[in-house]
Amino acid sequence: MQRFGHVIAATRGEATSTRWLPVFDPAHAQPYAEVADGDTRTLEAAVAAANRAAPAWAALRPSERARHLERLADALEARLDDFAHAEAIDAGKPLALARDIEIPRAIANLRFFAHAATQFASESHHGEAGLNYTLRLPLGVVGCISPWNLPLYLFTWKIAPALAAGNAVVGKPSEITPATATMLGELALEVGLPPGVLNIVHGLGPKVGETLVAHPQVKAISFTGSTAVGRRIAGIAGPLLKKVSLELGGKNATLVFADSDWREHLDTLVRSAFQNSGQICLCGSRLLVERGIYGEFRDAFVEHASALRLGAPLDAGTQLGPMVSQAHFDKVQGCIERARAEGGHVLCGGTALDRHGWFIAPTVIEGLGPDCASNREEIFGPVATLQAFDDDAEALALANASDYGLSASVWTRDLTRAHRFAAQLRTGIVWINSWMLRDLRTPFGGSGASGLGREGGLEAMRFFTEPRNVGIALPPISPQGTP
Ligand code: NAD
Repeated sequence: MQRFGHVIAATRGEATSTRWLPVFDPAHAQPYAEVADGDTRTLEAAVAAANRAAPAWAALRPSERARHLERLADALEARLDDFAHAEAIDAGKPLALARDIEIPRAIANLRFFAHAATQFASESHHGEAGLNYTLRLPLGVVGCISPWNLPLYLFTWKIAPALAAGNAVVGKPSEITPATATMLGELALEVGLPPGVLNIVHGLGPKVGETLVAHPQVKAISFTGSTAVGRRIAGIAGPLLKKVSLELGGKNATLVFADSDWREHLDTLVRSAFQNSGQICLCGSRLLVERGIYGEFRDAFVEHASALRLGAPLDAGTQLGPMVSQAHFDKVQGCIERARAEGGHVLCGGTALDRHGWFIAPTVIEGLGPDCASNREEIFGPVATLQAFDDDAEALALANASDYGLSASVWTRDLTRAHRFAAQLRTGIVWINSWMLRDLRTPFGGSGASGLGREGGLEAMRFFTEPRNVGIALPPISPQGTP
């Protein structure tokens, strides 16, 4: 059986562990590989390797670090098909999604932050109190913890800026989907990234993940995952005064106004609810629809959602794959049952498919108000609810009736309304007449239960550096050049 070992300095493969955990193929609900079950000793070895590598990596010119990241991006691109195939099996996602969107995005992340390394500039201030300039120094060793839903896409979204800014990394991918992060760690060694600059430790979150968070020599933690674990990490990192970036859950609203071109955008609207079987933090799981078009919209949306093809990730026609694990399958099934118990009317789906693998049909539910758990708690599966609204004020109140604050999408032809909602929705990201429109330079993240801090562009480069201001006494300089 295939084994995904730790990558610590130049050590990799089977030799890295004596204890292993099963890794499941979600489309068949069977173990297909094993992943190293890391512990405190593993973590100590990874942090020591990173500490050894950090000074030389930090001392490289930004353009030299950029070249390393470019080389890794090129090598990943050359093996795109292998990585897409591995991701499809490991996470149960349609091969086309991995091949056309997620692995290309991982490549783009590496290239984007290679460029960022060479473009990152620091501030200077003068004229008020001498001359001040700000150094942006690497932190040293940083920890990057990522989830299972977009495994390589989100792993590279963290490690690329961390490396670009001059840090050595200990990465901890999800134990549920360890394949592509391991492959990337091995590829990095093959293309000459200095050993110890990128280390990958595997294992259970409460065991190896928490040890990474608490480790005194790990200067910052960039975490993407559930709100519950994010809170726990904040609780550990807080007293240690450790820098944290937390990208957590979402319960995003999709607001559809009667004046929108919703028929034309129905594919995107359905995709926004169900892409990756709803296992994306940005999925719009609460659809708020203006009452005048509610019935017509509901019928068209349900028809489209019902027509999505569930199937084996490697089949060309597959649009939706299974839930990632038995535990997650049980959770989503439980949420559908709870929605029924809360009085929700299931318009389509609502059942597991009668086949091996953790498949759940796209499920659309109406008849539930903003206060019920189904509309408040993240489900993270192929489940969307519909609610009608009468006017802008009610739409805004429904959209903001959430502890989460990650993203929202607004569908309208009225630009004034669109801008007003953009200012009044309590989310970190608002899309107007679009969904998942991503420019990697923009701040990415949410507020409230969706997290703390922002990733993307300069925000990530700033997170992974420590600013040090240097003030120099200097008499005021006259523009004419006379002292
Ligand atoms: P999770 O919180 O269970 O696990 C995420 C990672 O944290 C895994 O690597 C896990 O091993 C590790 N971990 C678990 N417990 C830990 C602990 N006590 N200390 C340190 N590390 C620990 O999340 P998940 O189920 O893998 O991912 C799904 C969640 O991620 C959803 O809530 C989703 O909304 C969220 N998510 C958010 C974003 C975003 O950008 N905001 C993106 C993708 C996913």
